[in-house]
Amino acid sequence: MKLAVISDVHSNLEALEAVRRHLDAENPDAVYFLGDAVGYGPQPNECLEILRGICSVMILGNHDAAAVGLTDTANFNIYARMAVEYTAGKLTEENRSYLSSLPYTALRGDAFMAHASPYEPKRWHYILGRGDAVLNFEYFEQTVCFVGHSHCPLAIGKNGEEIIEAGGFGTIRMKEGMRYIINTGSVGQPRDGDRRAALVLYDEKTGEISLRRVPYDVAAVQEKMVRQGLPEYLIIRLSNGY
Ligand code: ZN
Repeated sequence: MKLAVISDVHSNLEALEAVRRHLDAENPDAVYFLGDAVGYGPQPNECLEILRGICSVMILGNHDAAAVGLTDTANFNIYARMAVEYTAGKLTEENRSYLSSLPYTALRGDAFMAHASPYEPKRWHYILGRGDAVLNFEYFEQTVCFVGHSHCPLAIGKNGEEIIEAGGFGTIRMKEGMRYIINTGSVGQPRDGDRRAALVLYDEKTGEISLRRVPYDVAAVQEKMVRQGLPEYLIIRLSNGY
């Protein structure tokens, strides 16, 4: 199967539509979504409609959970908390109950998925490098685990007991006997200094995992955010991808 794995849309419809057009051209067999459909951006319901239409896997992110009262926002900064309140006020009853029904992890074939980390998925730990990865490799058995949450694309490979690759990536070819943790980056709120939407294509047959970047109309979503009175900090950071 040829799979697309996407994460962290954060109510950014322009970014999601650009990614959908990219996927229309790539025509994957399935699209998996790793959570945070909502939060930060102006159009939570519109993004959920699209995601629910195109994704065969949907899991819960911390912003989704916060918007429906499933996780507390003590660890959120003030801007994120303002966005949670905005989102909670916008969500339709139907989308609210849909988000409340999502699982924290998913398993398809030889791929495990969690929004933040396989270790304690409900506590939203970050996997930012080798140190975090060592523990997390113990908490899934499959060859590859896809995560989001940090909004920074990252590939970590483990050969036996040794972590041998850790860093940003373009295309990697999975090696026999190795296991991987892959962060797909963020569709609607990139934070690796590249403002373009990020997604991953995964060919199960060849073991090739490639990161794609898709430009979208950043100014259009920023204008909507201004009109909705969302915090300036959240609006500006989309320009920088940081
Ligand atoms: Zn996120």
